[in-house]
Amino acid sequence: MASNVSVKVAVRMRPFNNNEKVAGSNQCILMNKEHRQVVIKNPQGGEDKVFTYDYVYDSCLPEEDEDYAGQDTVWGDLGTELLEAAWAGYNYSLFAYGQTGSGKSHSMVGFGEARGVIPRACEAIFEKMRGGGGNANEGDDVRYKVEASMLEIYNERIRDLFVPMNQQDKGGLKVRDSPSTGAYVYGLKKIPVVSYSQIERLMAFGTKNRTVAATNMNETSSRAHTIFCIAFVQTVVNRDTMKANDIRSEISLVDLAGSERVSRTGASGDRLVEGGHINKSLSALGNVINALAKNGTSKGKKKILVPYRDAVLTHLLKNSLGGNAKTTMIAAVSPSDTNYAESLSTLRYADRAK
Ligand code: ADP
Repeated sequence: MASNVSVKVAVRMRPFNNNEKVAGSNQCILMNKEHRQVVIKNPQGGEDKVFTYDYVYDSCLPEEDEDYAGQDTVWGDLGTELLEAAWAGYNYSLFAYGQTGSGKSHSMVGFGEARGVIPRACEAIFEKMRGGGGNANEGDDVRYKVEASMLEIYNERIRDLFVPMNQQDKGGLKVRDSPSTGAYVYGLKKIPVVSYSQIERLMAFGTKNRTVAATNMNETSSRAHTIFCIAFVQTVVNRDTMKANDIRSEISLVDLAGSERVSRTGASGDRLVEGGHINKSLSALGNVINALAKNGTSKGKKKILVPYRDAVLTHLLKNSLGGNAKTTMIAAVSPSDTNYAESLSTLRYADRAK
């Protein structure tokens, strides 16, 4: 099974924000698209560090520059992989990693016209379904089923974002393991969807629900991991034999909690607890992806045990991470030298995942 594991890593750099501009900060990261390299300069001096990834996306360049990477560029690469995985019956997971404000939500959800991967993926799935094809041969009929779910993990507790906050299970939902279907969230609402606009409305509900929870509990939504899942089933029926064959794919699109170090934000009390949970789950995710990447390239050598159980995040995504799954991570960074330490830590995390 592990030989099917594929892990890809993309790094995306956003433009300078106003604070960084006002502070007159300098650019400490340069990207080389041709060589897929990222060079980071220490503002205190010393040697530059160079990393190579599967994709590098420079959104800090002027939009007219031929190397500028906007939402279309990112979707052009990742969307193709996502749709191929869905139709071939692989699970697919995409993670956005980085400090708060580095551009995770911009890549995943997007703002206004600049739509991110999640809305584009949902739209493209329905478009491709209408176009037919897929795994069907001549003489086959294909039926599709799409179900959406949305949850967040805050302090190692799972909340269903399709359930109003005042009706949530107090202790949070639990991950269970089933011998036939693998890990799943017990009691999570999976809503059958028949159109893109229906998914859009559901996502708007889930996102609003998330914000309500964040405000009520004096937390910010950047301290939770948000996961949007699409369960996609193609049923291929042979017209002669009437034999039906299900091809299943789970697509998990994950906007991770901000990766900033707790000490840097001067946290205490609740923030410190949150920070501890976030560090734990992000390092668990790093360890799982690292083990999968190693197993994927080990060619017959003994496989390393993949530590899924170390955090709720990795446990619930077990099916979308190992086995028959494709995993991609977008590591988001700021161009500014004021964020040097966080950006270096993000680049290192992304480097380990390859
Ligand atoms: P995060 O989700 O990591 O906290 P956001 O995605 O909210 O960060 O990004 C912070 C701000 O930077 C937003 O105003 C967003 O529009 C802007 N931004 C992020 N990435 C890009 C990008 N690639 N191009 C243009 N603006 C971006």
